[in-house]
Amino acid sequence: MIHKTCPICSREEILPPNGVCRICYEHLKEDEVPSREKMTAGVRKRFRENYPNAAQETVEKNIESAMKFHQEKWDSMTKGGLKAVQLAAIVVDDAKHLPTWKAWHRRRIAFVSDLIAFLPDALFAPATRAQLNRYTRTAVDYWDGKLSEESREQIYREFEIQIDKKTNPSTWDEKSLPLWMMQTRDFFDWMWEQFMDCIYECVPEAHELSDDEWMLLYHRHFNDVLKQWVSNKNKHKREANTMSINITRFDAKTAYTSHEGTILAQPVTPPGLETPFWHQYGHLTRSRAMAGHAHPTDEIYIVCAGTGYVMLGGEVRPVKAGDVVAIPHGVWHTMICTERDEEPFLWAALWWDAIPGGVPTDGIDVLAFDRHTAHQAHENTILASEVVPASIKAPFDHAYGYLHDGGSMELHKHPTHEFYMVLSGTGYVAVGDEQAKVGPGDVIDIPPNELHTMIGKPGEPFLWAAFWW
Ligand SMILES: [Zn+2]
Repeated sequence: MIHKTCPICSREEILPPNGVCRICYEHLKEDEVPSREKMTAGVRKRFRENYPNAAQETVEKNIESAMKFHQEKWDSMTKGGLKAVQLAAIVVDDAKHLPTWKAWHRRRIAFVSDLIAFLPDALFAPATRAQLNRYTRTAVDYWDGKLSEESREQIYREFEIQIDKKTNPSTWDEKSLPLWMMQTRDFFDWMWEQFMDCIYECVPEAHELSDDEWMLLYHRHFNDVLKQWVSNKNKHKREANTMSINITRFDAKTAYTSHEGTILAQPVTPPGLETPFWHQYGHLTRSRAMAGHAHPTDEIYIVCAGTGYVMLGGEVRPVKAGDVVAIPHGVWHTMICTERDEEPFLWAALWWDAIPGGVPTDGIDVLAFDRHTAHQAHENTILASEVVPASIKAPFDHAYGYLHDGGSMELHKHPTHEFYMVLSGTGYVAVGDEQAKVGPGDVIDIPPNELHTMIGKPGEPFLWAAFWW
């Protein structure tokens, strides 16, 4: 199967039969099929303003028919799958207010001119391609104010004769496209709107354009508009998500200093989660080192990003994202960053009152995830292995979770408290009805008895550590 990226957001994979990804599809649907609450408020307001004496029954009927209208429009648009071209047309048409009228018209004219260049010569016969090109260039000049009204009129009439067409340019055929390029602004506005509304049905010959060619045209002329739409929608979604899924991310701007001012620090688990251990992120940049120290508690360091060295007792060992270091009580230790610039060396420290029963080892005890020795878990949907090195005992259960090439973990729930820490790759976490994008260093609170899963992206190995108690 060929994985094709969504031509609207260039991020997610297309979800057939649609020509766009699931996220872009849902975003458009939200706009096109307003919720009942939104529709009710809109209709009520309109009636209050225009027909203050209307019967309640009439208002209700109007709400019902408005709901039905939008739903039917959406159903017919998505019958056989939503096409990227349709979505792009709606987004571009909605962006009419950008940035000044003149600049906006200029771009629309350039789009139409380019579209004409993509269409077959035969459509404009008996005019030649050279005549057509000369005409569309002149139309662009007209919009730039470089042409008098008299010259416009004359060139327009001449071209009508060249293409042997003397009908109303609003007739829906592609031959009319050059003609409406030279209409007055009001008429062009009106034509453009019609054109955008029915871009697929109303320009039948334009079907000779492949969807890829249409999208090339849209991105060439309205790339900023499409990008803006995607980022606004995702921002809205992200805000909604962080409200319901409890996620912490290390943020150097709001972090505090710790260990005699040698590192930046921040709590690891989301606020409100009671844990059987203490916790703190450690953050270093520019080849710096943390002040060395020892304490009576057992501890692990989970490296979340970057590379460095851990020093433990008299030994040194290189560590990288995903590694977990055991720090037995009473042993002197420190971390040293090997990133030379502002790239972070970030780890999470979890520590607790020492528990006897660890299996002593020679040297520094480090665990790393290895997919070749890991075992299948969660109905064979993920690979898993232990997180805490065997030389210390932890007051919680723990497992790495790993998706090698997309797919998702079995959806499941349990009465225990849990959090996930992402160690490499980006993917999605779903908790209850909510979903959020997560990446290295993100810590996600999984409340007891909530259904949850992790979703990877094809081609991007996704590793996290789970801790529960
Ligand atoms: Zn998309």
